[in-house]
Amino acid sequence: MASIATLGSHCSLQVLKGAKDEGLKTILVCETKRERLYKRFPFIDELIMVDSFKEVLGQKCQKTLEENNAVLIPHGTLVAQMSSEEIESIKTPVFGNKWILRWESDREMKEKLMREANLPMPKPVANPKDIERLSIVKRQGAAGGKGYFMAANEEDYNTKRNQLVSEGIISKEETLYIQEYAAGVLAYLTFFYSPLKEDLEFYGVDQRHESDIEGLGRIPAEQQIKSNKVPSFNVIGNSPLVLRESLLDEVYKMGESFVEAARRIVKPGMNGPFCIEGVYDENAKFTSFEFSARIVAGSNIYMDGSPYYSLLYNETMSMGKRIAREIKTATETNRLDKVTT
Ligand code: ATP
Repeated sequence: MASIATLGSHCSLQVLKGAKDEGLKTILVCETKRERLYKRFPFIDELIMVDSFKEVLGQKCQKTLEENNAVLIPHGTLVAQMSSEEIESIKTPVFGNKWILRWESDREMKEKLMREANLPMPKPVANPKDIERLSIVKRQGAAGGKGYFMAANEEDYNTKRNQLVSEGIISKEETLYIQEYAAGVLAYLTFFYSPLKEDLEFYGVDQRHESDIEGLGRIPAEQQIKSNKVPSFNVIGNSPLVLRESLLDEVYKMGESFVEAARRIVKPGMNGPFCIEGVYDENAKFTSFEFSARIVAGSNIYMDGSPYYSLLYNETMSMGKRIAREIKTATETNRLDKVTT
């Protein structure tokens, strides 16, 4: 039987608890500084201690994973801390599609896949001088919203950019990505596509709480105007959300269209968990500014099962457990190659 391994961060507790509940061996690649934290959890069978997560690419780590028939569950920390080349070079089988993670990290590829999936997107702005409406300026890769800022026009962009450079938050050479700001209710829609059942499941919705853009919303306009701090979108945590039931059909359609687009352009497609992230406007129209092609940390709010999964499963089912279930079924039926890359 396969064992389940992941990096100690992001959603590793949920992933390994789910694997343990499915009766699989659990392995955590753990940074020395976090050993005390992770030793608190009895469902972690083995810790591979490292000074840096990059060591997962090294022979020693890969050998231990191989000896344990491990499947590596990728999450946001892997995407944030390793280059696409590094991720693609991992010898341990990676759950889902490791090739699609490049499409998540590269802004242009991301836009291409979202367009292919017909997701309604905010307008990209090619050059700061073309900023006509309130826009959001982002860094490359999964920076988790840190160093992002809003700009109303070119002058505003230059002032804020220079301020962030002088504060050492972004570098002078960094190419930033600009997109029109979409206002509305934030909704991060998480799905699971099972290549074994060839079926799409809708898992749940979460909202992100981001600092200090939320902090800014808590002070009166008079103080906001006087503040010269550039607020960022640094994720601090997540909270649950359920949608109006009339929105669900559209949600499934978006998920299905994303799976189909991924199947066409990034073989073997969008297997496993993924998230379409965006906002609903005043007409309940969804605009998507981003996707994650792997489990998202927002799934941590449903460690005991999500509202939508309680409709599909007559048991407690977290995303971590759902992943482990897929791997277990694949192993039992000799189809591990269908769920890993
Ligand atoms: P992660 O990889 O952690 O998902 P990221 O670095 O790829 O994050 P985004 O998710 O694109 O960044 O953006 C971070 C946050 O900025 C979002 O959660 C959202 O609050 C806000 N945001 C991004 N794009 C837009 C937009 N076009 N309109 C409104 N808000 C946006």
